Amino acid sequence: AAAGLGRLAAAVLAQARDAVVDHERELGRLDAIAGDGDHGVGMRRGVDAAVAAAGEAVGAGLSVHRVLTAAGEAWSERAGGTSGALWGSALAAAGRALGNQDSYSGGDAAAAVTAFADAVTTLGKADVGDKTMVDALLPFRNAFVAAFDGGTPVTGALASAVTAARQAADATASLRPLKGRARPLAEKSLGHPDPGAVSFALIATRVSDYFES
Ligand code: ADP
Ligand code: MG
Ligand code: MG
Repeated sequence: AAAGLGRLAAAVLAQARDAVVDHERELGRLDAIAGDGDHGVGMRRGVDAAVAAAGEAVGAGLSVHRVLTAAGEAWSERAGGTSGALWGSALAAAGRALGNQDSYSGGDAAAAVTAFADAVTTLGKADVGDKTMVDALLPFRNAFVAAFDGGTPVTGALASAVTAARQAADATASLRPLKGRARPLAEKSLGHPDPGAVSFALIATRVSDYFES
């Protein structure tokens, strides 16, 4: 009976995959400016593996915790690269936060978003302003939690969070990278947004649209 929320998690991952597929080349080009150019293919490998693993877990009737743990492990393993490890541990952390319940409240959603963000900062140790996905993720988390605390339902909180994440991802164009592979090529990166911040905002947008439809 714990399979319904796992099924929703798998559906959300399928939305993430659609967003990555639509922007795979653009993300690769962005990462090639100051990084190694693999962000598009890495995200694609990771999200494809996560969707497959989530599908198997849902087929076995597993809880959302087990679905997201399987998805996260598959993402980390198959993607390689920094962003794969971060997305993988973040998904697993969101799964742990949701546990084996079969429905969620706004508070559960806020806890899952917070766990996702905490996993990325714990593993990657980047701060806001370092020009990484954290620059989109923390504004997303903060806007989501603020909207929810102010009484906005999950779908509306998600929409506010996406607006914040998109603006913040765009704003990384004016930053110099202080973490990750792009750091040695910091000057080349100026004027271009961080690939990981952009991919996060694109995925969040697609997921929010899914909840609104
Ligand atoms: P790699 O850099 O290993 O080739 P990707 O190209 O897939 O991996 O991902 C690059 C993205 O990873 C960067 O644009 C940045 O957003 C993110 N990133 C790199 N290092 C960190 C970190 N320490 N914390 C958070 N995000 C990071
Ligand atoms: Mg790269
Ligand atoms: Mg790489």
